[in-house]
Amino acid sequence: MGSGQVTSSEPFDFQGKHVTVAGLGVSGVPAAKVLHGLGARVTVVNDGADERARAQAAELEALGITVRLGDGDSLPEGTELIVTAPGWKPDKPLFTAAAQAGVPVWGDVELAWRLRGPDAAPWLAVTGTNGKTTTVQMLASILKAAGLRTAAVGNIGVSLLDAVLGEESYDVLAVELSSYQLHWAPSLRAHSAAVLNLAPDHLDWHGSMEAYAKDKGRIYEGNRVACVYNVADKATEDLVREADVEEGCRAVGFTLGTPAPSQLGVVEGILVDRAFVENRQKNAQELAEVADVDPPAPHNIANALAAAALARAYGVPAKAVRDGLRAFTPDAHRIAHIADVDGVAWVDDSKATNTHAAEASLAAYESIVWIAGGLAKGATFDELVAKSAKRLRGAVLIGADRALIREALARHAPEVPVVDLDRTDTGAMRAAVHEARRLAQAGDTVLLAPACASMDMFADYNKRGDAFADAVRELGSVEG
Ligand code: ADP
Repeated sequence: MGSGQVTSSEPFDFQGKHVTVAGLGVSGVPAAKVLHGLGARVTVVNDGADERARAQAAELEALGITVRLGDGDSLPEGTELIVTAPGWKPDKPLFTAAAQAGVPVWGDVELAWRLRGPDAAPWLAVTGTNGKTTTVQMLASILKAAGLRTAAVGNIGVSLLDAVLGEESYDVLAVELSSYQLHWAPSLRAHSAAVLNLAPDHLDWHGSMEAYAKDKGRIYEGNRVACVYNVADKATEDLVREADVEEGCRAVGFTLGTPAPSQLGVVEGILVDRAFVENRQKNAQELAEVADVDPPAPHNIANALAAAALARAYGVPAKAVRDGLRAFTPDAHRIAHIADVDGVAWVDDSKATNTHAAEASLAAYESIVWIAGGLAKGATFDELVAKSAKRLRGAVLIGADRALIREALARHAPEVPVVDLDRTDTGAMRAAVHEARRLAQAGDTVLLAPACASMDMFADYNKRGDAFADAVRELGSVEG
């Protein structure tokens, strides 16, 4: 397994081609340089013209690349290909003009895919509404434990372009892909891929849930060995069914329950594989223990199973799955246990920036004082609150859209005490921590799982989590 390479896309000769790069920034600047280096005649178009954009433009212009600042909407004369930053919305006039002119549009992932060499490492790809980063990192850790040269790339850490064109050579890549990236990656063909879950997110960008699901589903197109889906999330299985895959490619499910044949699952605290074993009607292979997964919250076990499925699809032995999971430590602000104070556990899941993530987080604890709120991004909270109500000891609400959560709590959990913090200053998180402490009893968990974005009060979710952790540590040291 893991050998050979499917190349469904024609090689593309960039020499002398008019390529328009849409958007400066993390993907645009390197893409422009690479294309220029391949002999293309590159024009970069960018909506903004702020100081950073001007500095980037100057850098590119010095190389002989044309840059148009403040005009990201009109299609430069003679464009034969557009390479776009993944975040650019498909309904932008630039793309309408491109469609009318028959000009193809690629994202950064498509560009990287097309530039891979003939012996390039295959991709094991992961998408989903939540859990992508964690799963890709777990997968990379498992592949490393198997002695393979690999990296977690894509939407995290190393860019795909660097991974594909850099000095370092890899056996296989663990690739995180966002729905935006998939939208702009028409010829991507992964070795195997997983969609972890599917909940409404970024719908303003995609236009509808159907369009969002369709873009996520592209990850399965042309898979060779396995399409990995979430048994508990039927929408992911539907996407497998709709995908056009290579002959012999298998649908492999992961479940927190006992696995059926062709699934990975959990039996009495053991992660087991009933997909990549001889005689899967009768046999199962033990992979690891639930306790090997950090943190052992249900949604994270699901991530571990998805990572294990992709690794097994690539032919990795069971022992490497266990060793890789044991060696894995989650990134900060993802269910991070900060401290125990007076028998109360304090947990930072600031990365729970949408309701689907917060729901998974809340499902991991029995009795919770919940700190939530921020920017709702158009979300509603009824389902989340209704599902989690029985676990709530209390709630402390912060941020711009906290009234939406307060109203949902009043509707579905009227008996739960709620503190509504009417402040968004820098000390607000400390106040929230103090209020949470008043509500919590020994044995409870105080969980920061905001279900909202952070930008109303903090630079990002990292800063929000840091503010929480700082306030908790203060509390601990005051307690002695
Ligand atoms: P992503 O890269 O998709 O944003 P992360 O691995 O960074 O995902 O996790 C983001 C947040 O999503 C976590 O803090 C946790 O609250 C939640 N989460 C992680 N895995 C899952 C999952 N499988 N299902 C639901 N929520 C999850």
